[in-house]
Amino acid sequence: MKTTIEPLAILGGPKTITQPFRRYNSIGQEEVEAAKKVIESGVLSRFLGCWEPDFYGGPKVQGFERQCEAYFGVKHAVTVNSWTSGLIAAVGAIGIEPGDEVIVSPWTMCATATAILHWNAIPVFADIEPETFCLDPVSVEANITPYTKAIMVVDIFGHSAEMDILMAIAERHGLKVISDTAQAPGTYYKGRVTGTLAHVGGYSLNYHKHIHTGEGGILVTDDDDIADRLRLIRNHAEAVVGDKGVTDLRNMVGYNFRLGEIECAIGLEQLKKLKGFVASRQRAAERLTQGLANLPGLRPPIVKPDCTHAYYMYPMVLDVERLGVPRARILAALEAEGVVGLAAGYACLHLLPMYQQKMAYGSKGFPWSSDICHREVSYRKGICPVAEKLNESDYLGYEMCMHELTDADVDLIVKAFEKVWAQMGRLK
Ligand SMILES: *Cc1c(COP(=O)(O)O)cnc(C)c1O
Repeated sequence: MKTTIEPLAILGGPKTITQPFRRYNSIGQEEVEAAKKVIESGVLSRFLGCWEPDFYGGPKVQGFERQCEAYFGVKHAVTVNSWTSGLIAAVGAIGIEPGDEVIVSPWTMCATATAILHWNAIPVFADIEPETFCLDPVSVEANITPYTKAIMVVDIFGHSAEMDILMAIAERHGLKVISDTAQAPGTYYKGRVTGTLAHVGGYSLNYHKHIHTGEGGILVTDDDDIADRLRLIRNHAEAVVGDKGVTDLRNMVGYNFRLGEIECAIGLEQLKKLKGFVASRQRAAERLTQGLANLPGLRPPIVKPDCTHAYYMYPMVLDVERLGVPRARILAALEAEGVVGLAAGYACLHLLPMYQQKMAYGSKGFPWSSDICHREVSYRKGICPVAEKLNESDYLGYEMCMHELTDADVDLIVKAFEKVWAQMGRLK
């Protein structure tokens, strides 16, 4: 029997997906009850920015932190009001000096690199691996100079970076490692918890992530000294160091990075659900990969041996030369079929105006123009060829955290891809 294929929606045919999928919502009645109890208590935050017991926050803040320590298997968890704040605190806590170089991925959310600049240190962008989109250890090593002090590793889209290799490089060169695991909570790298393998790491709790408290972040570390400094930077360090007897004043410039009692009460409930949420993303992603596996010129996500993926994003790579159709046209055709949540390209931070013009603090090019900067660091196009090519032409992402996908939803997405692929010639 001859099966007739419907014309593509972009060319006037019927859409494959006609009903919107259910929006992902991790918040349930448990969170409502937990938040309500805090509100009824009247104590929405108990932090105090001086050296007394309330320096560490109220019962929900401390309760959530102890729960995170048990959950992620670390000595210290420190909550903060956003993961951006967490990254800033982490760079300060490891003792970065103005002018120090920190190697970072360009393929990440902007805050990862801005946290470095924040302490007047210099972001140096290394390229990424095409398989996982995480820092390429070879490129990291090639970018180490006498001024390099740390590596900021990102477990992007939900898959861990090559931590064993990166930690070995760091050890060989005496560098500290921070891991930005905002997108990969509840995943494993060779049987170990992603985010906990660096000197300090952590997770975002913003609205778009697997679990959230509205805004928020969790720092994790096994290092007592780093943990102390994180807590000081979080809560007005300069006012506290005297009474606390802290003598090493490096970066003891404080903020109010404190997370509230309501958020931490919600966080306690969210943490209980994290495993289930990640498992449901994995189920949907594995079904999608099965469905897309045989489409020519499309590479579904790769999961390395002994690793798990949280699928914050479902990253695909197109072979646009082979397909003979530009990515924008394929994306438009898929969107016309009703697929919502696709994105062409992700990020190439070094190409942002701030780096291209080397203008951050004030108007005179600080910190790059200052004599704290040891050498001319390049942000020109071409320094990260893998990331740049993916961003310009090959990468296609699908936001798995936007919807709560049923098997039938996934099958419809597959059907939309199959339809577009079957008629790729018509898009030329
Ligand atoms: C979300 C995210 C951040 C920032 O987290 P916030 O909690 O929104 O401040 C940083 N890095 C990555 C990779 C992220 O995905």
